[in-house]
Amino acid sequence: MHEQWQALIERVLLTPEQIARRVAEMGREITRVYAGKRIGDELICVGILKGAVVFLADLARAIEVPVTFDFMATSSYGASTEHSGVVRILKDLEHDVAGRDVLVVEDIIDSGLTLQYLLQHLESRRPRSLRVAALLDKPERRRVEVPIDFKGFEIPDAFVVGYGLDWNERGRNLPFVAALRPEAYGGA
Ligand code: 5GP
Repeated sequence: MHEQWQALIERVLLTPEQIARRVAEMGREITRVYAGKRIGDELICVGILKGAVVFLADLARAIEVPVTFDFMATSSYGASTEHSGVVRILKDLEHDVAGRDVLVVEDIIDSGLTLQYLLQHLESRRPRSLRVAALLDKPERRRVEVPIDFKGFEIPDAFVVGYGLDWNERGRNLPFVAALRPEAYGGA
């Protein structure tokens, strides 16, 4: 399985087992913070398309308080791996989050520019609380400070694919997180 990726991958950073263990722990942390939530006033998990879909699907099942899902999409880097500094909302929330508890679920925080923009946008909708769960954090690449309330893993500065993260839309279904060979994405 997945042998076509072997030539493109430098190394596997996180195995499916490591991811599953940490996501289960994150689910317990989140359950503790939102203990007492009720059906009718659920925690709104806002997944950022498309990269956070796999993480959201697993994380939400590890959270033992009532939740609902909503989704937002922002412009990505396209084929480039550098952030242009410009963030555009391609798809906005479907539900009103005023007075509600909102958890942004992101795949990876890199420069922090996307999350900073999203948090400003969501804050303007006056939620009761606004927190962030991110599977991966690349602290070396940060350009703006952003709060990450629930963090899966810190990883080194490398372009990664798998577990929802893509390389030109490919590789989202890989069950691990792997660093691509620089020559693979440099020449994409
Ligand atoms: P930021 O705005 O923090 O620079 O970038 C956040 C977004 O960039 C992530 O949600 C993700 O879509 C994309 N991104 C950043 N680093 C990587 C990476 O190593 N691999 C992939 N596939 N996407 C990345």
